[in-house]
Amino acid sequence: SEVATMMDVPVTKVISACMSLGMMVTMNQRLDAETLSIVAEEFGYEVEFTTADVEDEKEEVVENPEDLKPRAPIVTVMGHVDHGKTSLLDYIREENVIAGESGGITQHIGAYGVQLSSGQKITFLDTPGHEAFTAMRARGAQVTDIAIIVIAADDDVMPQTKEAISHAQAAGVPIVFAINKSDLPTANPEKIKEKLAAMNLLVEDWGGKIQSHDISAKTGNGVKELLEKVLLEAELLDLKANPDKLSNGTVVEAYLDRGRGYVATILVQGGTLKIGDYVLAGRHSGKIKAMHDERGHEVKEAGPSTPVSILGLDGAPQAGDSFKVMEDEREAKDIAARRTQLQREQNVRTQRHITLDEIGRRIALGDFKELNIILKGDVDGSVEALTDSFQKLSTEEIQVNIIHKGVGAITESDVLLASASDAIIIGFNVRPQGNARQVADKEEIDIRTYSIIYDAINDLKDAMEGMLSPEL
Ligand code: GDP
Repeated sequence: SEVATMMDVPVTKVISACMSLGMMVTMNQRLDAETLSIVAEEFGYEVEFTTADVEDEKEEVVENPEDLKPRAPIVTVMGHVDHGKTSLLDYIREENVIAGESGGITQHIGAYGVQLSSGQKITFLDTPGHEAFTAMRARGAQVTDIAIIVIAADDDVMPQTKEAISHAQAAGVPIVFAINKSDLPTANPEKIKEKLAAMNLLVEDWGGKIQSHDISAKTGNGVKELLEKVLLEAELLDLKANPDKLSNGTVVEAYLDRGRGYVATILVQGGTLKIGDYVLAGRHSGKIKAMHDERGHEVKEAGPSTPVSILGLDGAPQAGDSFKVMEDEREAKDIAARRTQLQREQNVRTQRHITLDEIGRRIALGDFKELNIILKGDVDGSVEALTDSFQKLSTEEIQVNIIHKGVGAITESDVLLASASDAIIIGFNVRPQGNARQVADKEEIDIRTYSIIYDAINDLKDAMEGMLSPEL
């Protein structure tokens, strides 16, 4: 209705324009950026977006290469439950004391930085697991540079290990394997590496390119070498940021402290954050009154890859929300208010995800080149058969990617991965489990379940050809 008014055309015409694009809309519905542009064009208008309108889209700032300085890698630890993620993070936190600094890391702020004896630094996100990692990605945040995937050498490559690998790969984040619990007599690191090789993940010892190190998070054996391998991987990534500009980054966690007000831990990704800066973070804003590091020390400024907890926001933003320093306090407040308004109107995120019904149209529009699929099935045989058949449906126009496959029910973690990677989920003889259905509805993820292989393949084929009759 708003768009119709702006263009001075009857709202019914806008609705039918949307219908001709295959979208059933009501007059009060908000349209995404892409649809807005296409509809406006139909009526001879061109859409120009202002910052507040495209708030969810990342602004690509082109930096002058001369302004860029090296920055520390940001690392997430993932892996199967009980394989030693927390133990590894704890060991690194406790053992690493910055030269000349007495106290260790005392505060749990959601992320911490350590300095190796070589002087090089690494920043760790202190919430282990691929769920946290992918939940942030689903909010549009990509903070992790490298993933350490912990595998217990007395166990096996387990379902969550496979998930962690898929989640890291879907994000394009390089993996370093930590083969843990090597102190145990029952440990068999070679078996783990063999299993990885069978999954086409060749570690260095096996002639591959993926780094891996045998460690014990309990005794600390091998941890130093593991971190050196992480730094080696970081070197290849050539991580850089410009410290001399207004700061931006991502919220790691936030809460209300009775005595101090809202406390948010943020990870600075660009620029240098200073006390007194006016910050916009998600739907909140405020002037930074104080900043603390993971050692509980007050700091006056924080450069790229540094985590700090800040005081002064007028609310608690969500993990994965972006933050940036604003020159104009008014503007920051306005954008924060608009975001709150948007949230209230929609109560869901603005981004819509791909659905099977929509694939044909999107391919025809020519802006859709890759179809990401998460495939879950009841037995390995059918998962492999479907993987094969789906991949064979790839054409010159569109590539079908199975970004994750596995045996078992469709989980919340699958849905988050779909949300972060704009994928559809296909279940064969399995259904969504627990909260997965609710989260899928909220995130608008298309889940299709089948019990006949032929039906699954045909539906996908029809969808890609734009021939699928809408699901009733
Ligand atoms: P998470 O679920 O992956 O975070 O695993 P935890 O770090 O909680 O570890 C699970 C269990 O394995 C705990 O009882 C740890 O003490 C134990 N553990 C972790 N790392 C090692 C290790 O290197 N050697 C031995 N022997 N036990 C370990």
